[in-house]
Amino acid sequence: MLGWGKIYLMTCEQCGGELASFREGSALAVKCTRCGWSVATTDIPGIKVDEAKYVVRCRGDYQDKIHIKAVSEVTGCNFLTSRNTLQKGLALVFVGQAEEVLRVRDVLVSAGVVCEITPDFNWV
Ligand SMILES: [Zn+2]
Repeated sequence: MLGWGKIYLMTCEQCGGELASFREGSALAVKCTRCGWSVATTDIPGIKVDEAKYVVRCRGDYQDKIHIKAVSEVTGCNFLTSRNTLQKGLALVFVGQAEEVLRVRDVLVSAGVVCEITPDFNWV
């Protein structure tokens, strides 16, 4: 169940306006205050309203170019820095919100890098 306070994070898909929540019968719906576009909250992916900050750590092979490239892509650091990061063992590579974390995780996992996300990540 979504909390009322979290919906302000979302903007209208049609006009970018502010969304407000309201009751429609027994259901909670969200409507744009500008253009009237509305959506049932059951259609809103939970990942979009997850406000938690996640920490991504990874462990890979610093001699594996594919692993280094994946870390480089995620951290925005160059090849050498990324190799040093992997050399340290379990290294912190990203801190952010659910949608970004999912993207980061995909990059790492598809390269074969083991990653750990804290707190528990439920959007996989
Ligand atoms: Zn709108």
